[in-house]
Amino acid sequence: MTDTFERLESNVRGYCRMFPTVFKTASGAIQIDENGDEFIDFFSGAGALNYGHNPPALKRWLVDYLMSDGVTHGLDMSTQAKERFLRTFDEVILQPRGLEYKIMFPGPTGTNAVEAALKLARKVTGRHNIVSFTNGFHGMTLGSLALTGNGGKRAGAGVPLGNVTHMPYCDYLGTEADTIAALERYLEDSSSGMDLPAAFILETVQAEGGINVASRTWLKALARLAKRFNVLLIVDDIQVGCGRTGPFFSFEPFGIEPDIVCLSKSLSGYGLPLAVTLMKPELDVFNPGEHNGTFRGHNPAFVTATAALDEFWRDDALTQKVNRDARTIRNTLLDLAGQADGEVRGRGLIQGVQFADSSLANQISHEAFKRGLIIETAGPSDEVLKTLPPLTIPSDVLEKGLSILAEAFEAAHTKDLVAS
Ligand SMILES: *Cc1c(COP(=O)(O)O)cnc(C)c1O
Repeated sequence: MTDTFERLESNVRGYCRMFPTVFKTASGAIQIDENGDEFIDFFSGAGALNYGHNPPALKRWLVDYLMSDGVTHGLDMSTQAKERFLRTFDEVILQPRGLEYKIMFPGPTGTNAVEAALKLARKVTGRHNIVSFTNGFHGMTLGSLALTGNGGKRAGAGVPLGNVTHMPYCDYLGTEADTIAALERYLEDSSSGMDLPAAFILETVQAEGGINVASRTWLKALARLAKRFNVLLIVDDIQVGCGRTGPFFSFEPFGIEPDIVCLSKSLSGYGLPLAVTLMKPELDVFNPGEHNGTFRGHNPAFVTATAALDEFWRDDALTQKVNRDARTIRNTLLDLAGQADGEVRGRGLIQGVQFADSSLANQISHEAFKRGLIIETAGPSDEVLKTLPPLTIPSDVLEKGLSILAEAFEAAHTKDLVAS
């Protein structure tokens, strides 16, 4: 029963309305509610649960740490847990990729990582403007919200959101238009009206914005443009990093090296809050304590984050699994899209379908939930069905989820045809 939530919890609650039950336990790709009904999770906490719910290897480390009175809260004081995380992140993630970044803990959420990135870019360059892209999503606090495209979310700010110029993302004006050339022209022309920005900030796959994928050509050209104009390149890898598209960082296949990278969501690996802002060493210009905060070192999250790196990123088995499962999902989605005039998009295990009928995605999500599958929608009017299963999902659970999805599609599509 959900009446307690209706009576006591703020009207702002959101996801619980789409998935109206009370969950009790969760393991791997399965969530179980208080009635004992099972749901396959194709949502993964919006990308915060890339390794599934309560992954056993991580849970062991966490329980041992808690039982041994390991430090839980330490402000940003040095702890063994933080030391192990820093070393492991360097050894397992940065060094093998030839990346050199200083690691900042900005506060535990994604928007904290973005705010720190903005502040840093503005401090380094002495410029106030930031270029973000149409349909981008970067968080809900004022600085991040100013970067975010979605009008409904922006309206919630209650104040004008400034110091940002929104430029067209890859293919926003159709596949023929050269949006980089347009941006270049704005930068070259001191009378374009756009103040030279401190940074470009982007997602390589816009997750909330409707699973819009930036092409290799576009990303490389943007990186070149950033260099030419001395503008910092910030990649917000909060949702599509940590293996979501296959490699650990979503930008790895494109040979670009962002100046600043934001990570959060699946960084702790266990759904515990943890975020980092990575910066090229020469950008490390904050004074000690200049950007402060109480929860910048949640030690249990360091423990599970270290365990996740140890468990999943010492070889490329997970990346290969993501690539295999991506093909399986794509085939199902292509089939559904073919029946309802839809377009499949995405990379790795963030894929979706934009249907011609913009209400179909929501109806499918609704029908899926009735049949035991949790699946979300994305895009400006929730018109894109978004599949985001845990990267570790066993193949039989994936197959079962996809067959529920096909049934849900059938039910929603049939209703749709009858209605029209
Ligand atoms: C979720 C998300 C954020 C914000 O993270 P919060 O933890 O919700 O503040 C920022 N950027 C992207 C790309 C996201 O997906």
